[in-house]
Amino acid sequence: MKSRRKFIKLSAMGSAALLAKSVIASEKSDKTEILVSPKKITKPIVVSTWKHGMAANEAAWKILSQRGSALDAVEAGVRVTESDPDNMSVGLGGLPDREGFVTLDACIMDENNKCGSVAFLQDIENPISVARKVMEKTQHVMLAGEGAKQFAVEQGFKTTNLLTPKAKKAWEEWKKESKYQPVINIENHDTIGMLAIDERGNLSGACTTSGMAYKLHGRVGDSPIIGAGLFVDNEVGAACATGMGEAVIRIAGTAVIVELMRNGRSPEEACKEAVYRIIAKHKDLTNLQVGFLALNKNGEYGGFSVYKGFNYAVHTNAENKLIDAKYDRDRK
Ligand code: ASP
Repeated sequence: MKSRRKFIKLSAMGSAALLAKSVIASEKSDKTEILVSPKKITKPIVVSTWKHGMAANEAAWKILSQRGSALDAVEAGVRVTESDPDNMSVGLGGLPDREGFVTLDACIMDENNKCGSVAFLQDIENPISVARKVMEKTQHVMLAGEGAKQFAVEQGFKTTNLLTPKAKKAWEEWKKESKYQPVINIENHDTIGMLAIDERGNLSGACTTSGMAYKLHGRVGDSPIIGAGLFVDNEVGAACATGMGEAVIRIAGTAVIVELMRNGRSPEEACKEAVYRIIAKHKDLTNLQVGFLALNKNGEYGGFSVYKGFNYAVHTNAENKLIDAKYDRDRK
């Protein structure tokens, strides 16, 4: 005979901690099975980094609101930013490296831990879609440089000159002052990272960038690196990163955040802890901006950055809004 079932209401347990954890507790004994209701899941939902995330979210939402997959949504979302010539940190119109080459990094990850990535890719407007092809059409995770481009062309992607007149002009201006040494942190870099949960409750993420402007030729940042710029675990949640990629790679930033969420941290707490890890590992934080954004399986989200200024866009059934992330310190 079935054991007697006793439902204990969260309120009756009087525990905010239980609410916060939002896990299904099932404790079995001979006589009693206690089932605590899981927290209501906010879905679909899409979150993305920076103000350009607002327009990207709209494109992702078109798919999510029609019961489309999170994977399709994040790809479609970040493609908007990649194809925007006025955005100077992602895809077409991105600021070049110090030799004048626009080199792109991107990765994508789905609910089955499948992932694809391209690094140091040139002349292709939508690297996120190439990353998806790597995931779906090859046995590999990452393709880089000429090989990635060759693969993209074979897959039917058109080549384009990504260096717009505006970006070229900015680079020419920069060259006048440049001492031709790596002058990291003082240059613009604003990746788009996007995380989504679809109607079925599945998570996916995408991350794409032209990287740090005027970087050394050949430099690859965190954005195409699974576990650094992006990580998704469908059981737990997902995280993406923006800012100085080297600092993110050093702590395996997004992998760490997902593990922290697995261990009970909220998305914001997990991002904050990762930021403090970066702060602890770097003696000189001058202009070292990093922003993390995370989304858990319940549709709760949060972000945190080293310095003031990082924001992220959140689209739910209710609205698409821009939120200022909390941060550790003010920029002087
Ligand atoms: N994380 C990117 C990189 O280091 C740039 C950015 O997000 O601003 O290439």
